[in-house]
Amino acid sequence: EAAGILRRQSARESAARTYARALPIVPVRARGMTIEGADGRRYLDCLSGAGTLALGHNHPVVLESIRTVLDSGAPLHVLDLATPVKDAFTTELFRTLPPALADRARIQFCGPAGTDAVEAALKLARTATGREGLLAFTGAYHGMTAGALEASGGARDVRVARLPYPQDYRCPFGIGGARGAELAARWTENLLDDTKSGVPAPAAMILEPVQGEGGVLPAPDAWLRRMREITAARGIPLIADEVQTGVGRTGAFWAVEHSGIVPDILVLSKAIGGSLPLAVVVYRDDLDVWPPGAHAGTFRGNQLAMAAGAATLAYVRENRLADRAAVLGSRMLAGLRSLAADHPCIGEVRGLGLMLGVELVDPGEPGPGAGESGAAARVRPGPQQHALPQQQALPLPHPQHSLPQQRGHQKQPQPQPHTQSHDLPDT
Ligand code: PMP
Repeated sequence: EAAGILRRQSARESAARTYARALPIVPVRARGMTIEGADGRRYLDCLSGAGTLALGHNHPVVLESIRTVLDSGAPLHVLDLATPVKDAFTTELFRTLPPALADRARIQFCGPAGTDAVEAALKLARTATGREGLLAFTGAYHGMTAGALEASGGARDVRVARLPYPQDYRCPFGIGGARGAELAARWTENLLDDTKSGVPAPAAMILEPVQGEGGVLPAPDAWLRRMREITAARGIPLIADEVQTGVGRTGAFWAVEHSGIVPDILVLSKAIGGSLPLAVVVYRDDLDVWPPGAHAGTFRGNQLAMAAGAATLAYVRENRLADRAAVLGSRMLAGLRSLAADHPCIGEVRGLGLMLGVELVDPGEPGPGAGESGAAARVRPGPQQHALPQQQALPLPHPQHSLPQQRGHQKQPQPQPHTQSHDLPDT
């Protein structure tokens, strides 16, 4: 039976399918981290629903929340209308947000995928600022729809300025660590202050606190704070895309909590739906200037996803699972690092909480370069490179394509209204 299913699907499905080509598995049951194939074999599911399964497959509280809605006879589709389920989800979500955002937040339900919420965030920022440009980062991934794609690493849209994202192992400046991150911040600052750069006035900066698809790259806290300062000082809304980093995965409920930055717009999806499709943007109320109807979409009111999401958020918060992810993550990181010491094919191990990455390299090739200790856990130093590697070339018209020279000219941080640290909510 399984062989027939695999044969029929591979004959009919598009060439764009990815994992399914390499994994001839037909899952029929799942629980926690385990999926069971039609062949009766059990597998550890490291795909983890692409980050949607904060509680694993079919967690009892998630199933219970879905059953409760189904048994209640509640409508499953209500567009934008208020319902008890929606109220419960919104209340629980706001409870988890950084207080400085939650106190004055608005929510827009988008739907159903992360990329929809990214589109909404870009539209909101452009409407609120009346500007068109966008500041985005090399290696970023924000989704597959047109706007989100243009904000991603391979941006071709002339309105998008692509900025260096800090990293140790493949640092675009060949330095890594805190100094590499500071150079990346100054590169951004110089570009924004250069009136001849040709970069259109930005409506927003969009970043991932930990780049996911880009290779699990945690941005150093200091660099994130610099991005917050740089954008706040210039009146540029900061969009944090926490589609992949949210709901405890990185060791904090939201990854922005590590650095204490408070974004103006937060893009959320994946795990907030408790394994069902759900996406929202949460933003400062003074940005809420788009007119009714400015953002719509048929599937923006998915009741089952809201129920599963509310149950997931509450469970993560009440059981302090973010703290647990931090503990398990550091244990796993230590284990992976000791593996790396014995295996030259491991170039670097890095990550935050349980969002971990292992970069595999050809041991025969020279390493791409590694830096001082940064947010990433560096395992082995490689030869340093002092030019921008080809794949990281920064294609903007800019007078300072080379590294900024003035080491002593670091700007003093300015007091920022939106930069506030806070703790995990007490339970
Ligand atoms: N932003 C980030 C950071 C993501 O990781 C993803 C998906 N991997 C998206 C946006 C897009 O989400 P979706 O695939 O649900 O459209």
